[in-house]
Amino acid sequence: MNSAIHVFKFGGASVKDANAVLNVVELIKKHDRFKLVVVVSAMGKTTNKLEHIFNSFIKKDREAYFKSVNELKMFHLNIIQDLFKNDSFEEVNEIINALFNQITSFYDKTENENRSYLYDQLIPFGEMLSTKIIQHCLEKSDVKSSWLDAKTCIKTDSNYQNANVDWARTEKEINLCLNQLYKESRVVVSQGFVGSDNEGFSTTLGREGSDYSAGIFAYASDAKEVIIWKDVPGMLNADPKYFEDTIKLEQISFKEAIELSYYGASVIHPKTIKPLQNKNIPLFVKSFLHPEKKGTIIQQRTENDDAIPSFIFKKNQVLFSIMPKDFSFLIEENLSDVFLKLSRINAHINIMQNSALSFSFLMDDKVDVISQVKSALESSFIVKYNTNLELVTIRHYDQQTIDFVTTGKEILLEQKTRSTARFVMGLNETNTFKEV
Ligand code: ASP
Ligand code: MG
Repeated sequence: MNSAIHVFKFGGASVKDANAVLNVVELIKKHDRFKLVVVVSAMGKTTNKLEHIFNSFIKKDREAYFKSVNELKMFHLNIIQDLFKNDSFEEVNEIINALFNQITSFYDKTENENRSYLYDQLIPFGEMLSTKIIQHCLEKSDVKSSWLDAKTCIKTDSNYQNANVDWARTEKEINLCLNQLYKESRVVVSQGFVGSDNEGFSTTLGREGSDYSAGIFAYASDAKEVIIWKDVPGMLNADPKYFEDTIKLEQISFKEAIELSYYGASVIHPKTIKPLQNKNIPLFVKSFLHPEKKGTIIQQRTENDDAIPSFIFKKNQVLFSIMPKDFSFLIEENLSDVFLKLSRINAHINIMQNSALSFSFLMDDKVDVISQVKSALESSFIVKYNTNLELVTIRHYDQQTIDFVTTGKEILLEQKTRSTARFVMGLNETNTFKEV
């Protein structure tokens, strides 16, 4: 018996239908000589659907609410039917129906309460459903396993929708739970993305937060390794949506992985790496379709970090350029005022630059962002903006890679350090700044 704990994380795509679930079960079976913590996300696009249901709840659109709940229920019941075929599946059916009864009665909750709180009471049902189904499927395949309610051991504050982990309590609770459960079976299935606060209310760790849950379980249990199973062969040097010839990164450091996710690479949730780095627990990103292949290993050593340039694209960007109305210089005092005002509207700046008379900053062009920035700053500044831009970051660049991404584009702003080059670019035609 090998007593080291291995943490597996399966995202929505890896459990999107019955075949995908069976593949996950096979993968777990192959590794059940280890003690496993299996962290699972909601199935397929369930979380998006639940967000849709949540919006209908907020709008008090009863018809839309129940229509979507029904669709989501059929989606899960169909998967169960495909999985269990002729075997009796009353037990799992009953559990899933009971969960849907709770989703149904959620509609009658008062909608005047804190929205983020309400969101966190509804959205985790996706992970409850998926983990219940998977654990039953494991049992049916003769893999002895236990189901762990993540709320009992991932303890957070009440910052709903983006809760902060109480590490000391979480570490204690995870070890208590796992020690108990490993007496019964070697496979523990739990939910990603979900925790609970002091009062026992559900909390969530931010969208795509299941990776982070895997990191939390690994940190708390001193795991030997974490494997994030994905539908790509590992971490790639660019998003295949924008790039034809992507290259898999064989090995990178924790530090490099944090840098890449900071610049917007979306393979791993940014918060995942830090707890693993603190305890030096290696993280593998592997394909659940080709589990025999090596994938990417993320660990302490940095010597391979600059082997392959990586490209990170952020589309749909808006560049603001502001000038003090009294034409004073943009010095520290003004800038601290700008940052204060921007932080009040929860602005997230992707890149910034200043000159004597102006300050420029780039943001994701989300709904309302232009009007929010305008109302935050217009009393003291002339605010101009330019939309439809993209930000490209090249890690470990050379002239060839720069030419490759910038040729034929208009560069509005550029920044280089020794390891990173960043370009804000417009599409071919000359871009003009509009005044708000
Ligand atoms: N199901 C959640 C989401 O889609 C968490 C996750 O998948 O990581 O955001
Ligand atoms: Mg997901």
